[in-house]
Amino acid sequence: MKLHLAVGLLPVVVFVGAAQASIPKPVLTWKQEIEKPVRVRLASALNTVRLQGFGLRVQGGSASSNPIAMNRMGSLEIERVKTEMGWFWRIKKSEGKIERFELKKAEALVIEGEDLRKGTQDLPGRLVLTSKMKGFDLIGVLPIENYLVGVLSSEMPLAWPLEALKSQAVAARSYTLALMRERRQLHYDVESTILDQVFNHVSRKLDNDKMIAKARRAVEETSGVVLLNQKSQVAKAYYHADCGGRTTAAKNVWGTGEKGPVIVDSSCPGHPRSKWTLSLTVDEIRAKLSKKFDIPGDIESLFALAPSAQDRAERLKIRLVDGRERTVNADEFRAALGYSDLRSTFFKVERQGDHFEFKGQGWGHGVGLCQWGSRRMAETGSGASDILRHYYPLSPIAGEIRNSPRVASRRTAGQE
Ligand SMILES: [Zn+2]
Repeated sequence: MKLHLAVGLLPVVVFVGAAQASIPKPVLTWKQEIEKPVRVRLASALNTVRLQGFGLRVQGGSASSNPIAMNRMGSLEIERVKTEMGWFWRIKKSEGKIERFELKKAEALVIEGEDLRKGTQDLPGRLVLTSKMKGFDLIGVLPIENYLVGVLSSEMPLAWPLEALKSQAVAARSYTLALMRERRQLHYDVESTILDQVFNHVSRKLDNDKMIAKARRAVEETSGVVLLNQKSQVAKAYYHADCGGRTTAAKNVWGTGEKGPVIVDSSCPGHPRSKWTLSLTVDEIRAKLSKKFDIPGDIESLFALAPSAQDRAERLKIRLVDGRERTVNADEFRAALGYSDLRSTFFKVERQGDHFEFKGQGWGHGVGLCQWGSRRMAETGSGASDILRHYYPLSPIAGEIRNSPRVASRRTAGQE
């Protein structure tokens, strides 16, 4: 399959539906989207936050309100307070021994500085605090390529082969851009947790660290490279820890997925087939499930419903002792039992006395790139583009992945 796309030749602004609609509507191409900074939600529903950094500056509120700017190391303690005039930001700034308080009325505050920290946590150099009333979100704003270094070092062990890290970088870049497209109307693009993808900011202080340098190299050698869907938009390139032997399509897990067969079933060439078991009593399961579903009685049996014995469960049938039945989505069932307890939906379940035993394999939803499989492929000589073609067989790769000298030289040797 030839995957070359002349995306580099696309005009910067494309007009869609011009033949049908009277007014053509300009849309951002992914080439423009990739230039936009990522807005990462670092924390939500905060009441107060203490930030430290060098040369801290705070913008927000009316033009007449005093801008806050500090020249040295300092700290800011920010909280939301309600007065007779409504909700305000109460900012305590400390620089050396000097402490001052300010009140600002604004929906958002923008804070910039160097070596920004919250406790021991390094933060990007630009933060936005947003709030409607009580409580606020802390959002980091940074270029996507810097953001990806923080994702890579949180999502995959950096001791793994460079080509696996590069394939992970392309998947994460694509996933991020797809979320940015979906969430354009929200005040953030991505969560910094497993809800989307884990992100811990990597400060430039760590540039001499060998492993961080490797993460940067993986991002730089794939700079600007994304997977596309069949509409030539960036594909929502899901990835997970361990497929358990076979990956699956998004629609099998969530009932929805991107239009067009972007991600299809695929065997995984070499993963550890990590097996797990989980044992829970009937009462424990009922208590956990009841938080999410209506379970009006004691559970008699559970049935994992899968298209075949080789597939992961798509639904779970819950039979109660009075004969009534409930059928729930397997991913929601997994969420109710706990994503890290019931590691995947690739399991068989059996009742043994007063408990149920789940015997499963793999870890994660099983859609898209399998991280353990990518590691095994890289160890046996595959490059990042081979890995991506394996896990996203119908998603063209846009842009050019630069090969590390080791891989490039072996390829050249192979062609001679
Ligand atoms: Zn796998």
